[in-house]
Amino acid sequence: EISACLVGSEMCIRDRLELISHKILTAPQIDKLLERVAKDPGFGTLSQVQKRNIRLARKAYDEETKLPEQLVFETAKQQTIAVGVWKRAKAVRDYGMFRPELKKMIELRMKAAEILMEVKGTKTPYDALLDAFEPGMTADRITEVFDRMREGLMGVIMEVEKSGFKPDISILSRPVPMETQRMISEAAMEFIGYDTKSPQAGGRLDETEHPFTTGYYDDVRITTHYHEDRFPSSLYSVLHEGGHALYDQNLPKKWIYQPIGASSSYGIHESQSRFVENMIGRSPEFLGYMFPKLKKIIGRTLRGVKLADFISSVNNVQPSKIRIEADEVTYGLHIIIRFEMERNIFAGKIGVDELPQAWNEKYEKYLGVEIEHDSEGVMQDTHWASGLYGYFPSYALGNIYGGMFLQKLGRDVPGWKKEIKKGNFTPVKNWLIENIHNKGKLYDPADLVKQVTGKNLTVKPFIDYLEKKFGKIYGF
Ligand code: ZN
Repeated sequence: EISACLVGSEMCIRDRLELISHKILTAPQIDKLLERVAKDPGFGTLSQVQKRNIRLARKAYDEETKLPEQLVFETAKQQTIAVGVWKRAKAVRDYGMFRPELKKMIELRMKAAEILMEVKGTKTPYDALLDAFEPGMTADRITEVFDRMREGLMGVIMEVEKSGFKPDISILSRPVPMETQRMISEAAMEFIGYDTKSPQAGGRLDETEHPFTTGYYDDVRITTHYHEDRFPSSLYSVLHEGGHALYDQNLPKKWIYQPIGASSSYGIHESQSRFVENMIGRSPEFLGYMFPKLKKIIGRTLRGVKLADFISSVNNVQPSKIRIEADEVTYGLHIIIRFEMERNIFAGKIGVDELPQAWNEKYEKYLGVEIEHDSEGVMQDTHWASGLYGYFPSYALGNIYGGMFLQKLGRDVPGWKKEIKKGNFTPVKNWLIENIHNKGKLYDPADLVKQVTGKNLTVKPFIDYLEKKFGKIYGF
């Protein structure tokens, strides 16, 4: 055990913490206590917050205890194997090598999904998997809203292509030294009020291969990655992770360490990061404020570049094969493809043998791109090798929630764009804190959205936002 720890000390500590957390969560004592509370005559007099805490604790307990330890163990083992094989298969473009491991992974998750379906009371096994990321969300509901989203996105892409306008994206690959990019990160973090400097700072920026956010309340850290020939990549990573960080930092302090003292869902989390990255960070208002600063920081390299050209370059729309490189408009289509495939896999409608072809057909149909080999196709993401089925929809739901929040923000704080232009993010941030961050896990995502906007889940505000913004840039 000690030597295993030395080999991968980080993994080992994490695994141990997870084991400890699992032991605490599944202690029979918890079951008894929850039972006693539920049967207590005073239960009805508990506050909404207290009842929600009980409900979330019960849900976590039931889900943690119903999965046989053997299955949990086998799944964890298969994750390690499948990810390893996936990496090798991807490197040599050989889906056949990955296929048996993927099949086994899907079978294991299917077993878990069937058990969780009973515990959660969902209609299908896939709904049980979705619930882990978007509590209460179902494939039927997602299908309904994704079908509309697909039409809307394809419509915007068609308009963009019809316009014939091609932004000059060569601006984005002008070389900017890492030291300079670090100063850009400072400016971005200062703009959103993510404090990494003051004595009571609750934030910190580091550098990793893939940017991420981690932490809780008064210690929430982000990372970024600098590419010398792609400076906006880091700027937008900092804004994206900063959006995640603001959410975690502004969960109500009074709920710390309670079940409701957490984010509502992966999708709501993603709505916050994309809101800051795209709806703010790629807006003409933000860039109107930030671009002169960028020019000052970067100097000669950006001399002669006009604001309008920079705005259009960071909003370039181009259907592509790779999800993580996709723009704000085409991104959703990558997700819809994955969702449709997962839904069919777990409904037993498609087997691992047929995945590559089904994938390629959808890419051709929705995005008009031709996949040439499986490494840029069905094997591009790590999620399926890692057994993360039901995760992908959260990304696109984040956009949909974000569109709804944006619309409501416009009604509640009509002058917000003018403030952004002046470099003042505070009115927007306060609105997000008050309406979303401060609610913690009090509501499931669909209920939270309804609470905030008064509406049921709808993709229309997001599509309207895209049409308006890209219509202006592309002239349609
Ligand atoms: Zn994110």
